[in-house]
Amino acid sequence: MEEFRRAAYESADWIADYLTNTRDYPVVAQIKPGELVDRLPKSGPERGESFEAILRDFREQVIPAVTHWNHPGFMAFFATTGSTPAILGDMLTAALNTVGLHWKTSPALAELEQVSLGWLRDWMGLPRDWFGMIHDTASSGSMHALVAAREYVAPEARENGTPPGLVMYTSEQSHSSIEKGAIAIGIGQKNVRKVASDAEFRMKADALAEMVKRDVAAGLRPFCVVATVGTTSTTSIDPVPAIADIAEHHGMWLHVDCAYAGSAAIVPECQWILEGAWRADSLVVNPHKWLMVPTDLSVLYTKRPDILRRALSLTPDYLKTQEDPRAVNLMDYAVPLGRRFRALKLWFVLRYFGRERLAEILRTHIQWAEDLAALIEQDSRFEISAPHPFSTVCFRLKGSDAENLAILERVNASGKFYISQTKLLGKTVLRVAIGNLGTTWDDVRACWEMIRETK
Ligand code: PLP
Repeated sequence: MEEFRRAAYESADWIADYLTNTRDYPVVAQIKPGELVDRLPKSGPERGESFEAILRDFREQVIPAVTHWNHPGFMAFFATTGSTPAILGDMLTAALNTVGLHWKTSPALAELEQVSLGWLRDWMGLPRDWFGMIHDTASSGSMHALVAAREYVAPEARENGTPPGLVMYTSEQSHSSIEKGAIAIGIGQKNVRKVASDAEFRMKADALAEMVKRDVAAGLRPFCVVATVGTTSTTSIDPVPAIADIAEHHGMWLHVDCAYAGSAAIVPECQWILEGAWRADSLVVNPHKWLMVPTDLSVLYTKRPDILRRALSLTPDYLKTQEDPRAVNLMDYAVPLGRRFRALKLWFVLRYFGRERLAEILRTHIQWAEDLAALIEQDSRFEISAPHPFSTVCFRLKGSDAENLAILERVNASGKFYISQTKLLGKTVLRVAIGNLGTTWDDVRACWEMIRETK
């Protein structure tokens, strides 16, 4: 144990130094594919090695191959933060190694998950009777929502397999995980209707209504509609109240994907973003995107846990326990049996920062996005490509795709910043996503200066 204690202190020191000096590292790993594989031994050691040797190789071999998501210059995709309270929570989770099967195997896991997800639900202004559970990713959470949606409309599917004729709807701007979920549960890619979006990249509710009407007339069974609050490319907000009207009219399950933007609902003046979401049947939000929690921690909320349970509960003899209404068996609501104690890191984060401080961090990121957009607008060579309701700005040089991609490549090769790109209306646009706790306004401005100068 003394060897562990020494190595743990050394690791804690390394982590503290790393978090203090992250900006000294190149944000994007500067290695070629296969380089790390080539550098490491082809077979594992016959005899165990010392922590000292392993930690040395971690520093010297592994670290140069890391792209640093905790770097203040990371503004690609959606920027994230592995914050100090979450790191402590994750360390303690590994130490406890409690495995969530049924309640008795892990009472703390089952109950802390309910407690922390209850706090988050209240902070987001969601209905108090909604049930929440943690998944590794929004992709998994949304796939489980689709399973519940199928159970809701076609309960025979559990016994007989997915019946033909089920169709679902989502905007052409929605995340690929929705379509993937439909593929995985046997809905079929061609039965995922992509609803057109308007000039601000929001789902057109009238186009949705028209599509559903046509499918019903053709004898098909519309079973689910997925709205997005904070789409991946532009962070646009679908008109959830109008979509909820259509879902209710046709008896469809409504799922809201607010993986990135949902966290902003804890900011009182932003709570409107979830307008109408209380009418949804389920919703996913990713604290591991914009709530200072490192991956992997996504939350699926549903107002119909009974349907999810009916779809997925299957208890072999060896897992049977005494029924007790207060003992939540999370295995009944998801495909995985064993669960990590992920709630611990969320609980640490919610307690350490508190709602006010978290809201202040997000509010500041949103303000910086506004300020960045103002700078972009002052340079007539560039144009803003979409509204920016949150902390992500899409813009482009008024030029060819190749010129925009050249800017992207040069900025990302600098080692100082990592930005990403997407396609909007057939054109390549640049995306700057603010979301790391260490990022400052000076970083955002310096990133913009580099984009401008590399022209
Ligand atoms: N939904 C939206 C709107 C997203 O932007 C993303 C990823 O960026 C996802 C879902 C997928 O998230 P995850 O990586 O947690 O599966």
